[in-house]
Amino acid sequence: MQWFGKGSNNVEDGRSGGGGKAILGGGVGIIVVIVGLLFGQDLTGLVSQMPATEQGEVKKGVPTDEAGKFTAGVLESTEQVWDAQFASLGKQYEYPVLRLFRDGVQSACGSASSAVGPFYCPGDHKIYIDLSFNDDLKNKFGAAGDFAQAYVIAHEVGHHVQNLLGTSDKLHQARGRVSEVEYNKLSVMLELQADFYAGLWAHHAQNLKDFKLDAGDLDEALTAANAIGDDRLQKQSQGQVVPDAFTHGTSAQRMHWFKKGYETGDIRQGDTFNAPRL
Ligand SMILES: [Zn+2]
Repeated sequence: MQWFGKGSNNVEDGRSGGGGKAILGGGVGIIVVIVGLLFGQDLTGLVSQMPATEQGEVKKGVPTDEAGKFTAGVLESTEQVWDAQFASLGKQYEYPVLRLFRDGVQSACGSASSAVGPFYCPGDHKIYIDLSFNDDLKNKFGAAGDFAQAYVIAHEVGHHVQNLLGTSDKLHQARGRVSEVEYNKLSVMLELQADFYAGLWAHHAQNLKDFKLDAGDLDEALTAANAIGDDRLQKQSQGQVVPDAFTHGTSAQRMHWFKKGYETGDIRQGDTFNAPRL
């Protein structure tokens, strides 16, 4: 896909300083390096395992590198699509912030390492993405291509939409009131609805003036949806549980709902909770 707009300014870029490696630049890092030298060991690997702290500079606005610019472009297209969708519901869309990080990050939902993959934190309305996930998509999951990356961003934006519409709240309230099994089913429905919203974004984005879909784009997104289904995705979560560490549904379910969103473009068709279960 191509985006000819200037990109969303709602990007926070913490890749240069934030994250575990940044600790090396601070006092603790220096001490670890000295201790490491004293004992003749390289302890830098250990440092990068430490929980992330926000020490580096976080730049707000459209990043200047290609991957960052592309991310800001996709985000801008989601803003335009959801502006119109919310307006059609008689509501006002509030833009999320997309936080780029490297290695690890501190969010209102706790600290997270890159291993958990992209996630959305309802507590601070931010989407967290380490762009190295794009390499994972390509190398580990065989889902290469810029549109696969765009799909992942659109899925996380979908969680933001659920937060604004109160859908995720309802799920939160169900916790403890329903059985563990039922709760897990509900969280899968929430994930599948985020996939539906990603499809809905793709449907409407192609009509935006700054957007151009390339041949094969849809296949890229479907490959990604297929590749990162629970039945294929090896869970690598570590550290604290983040909201997106729930089960996501099978590859077939994910592809089904993305496609449905893409084909209908109709937000009323996205009630994954009351749809017959696949
Ligand atoms: Zn999700």
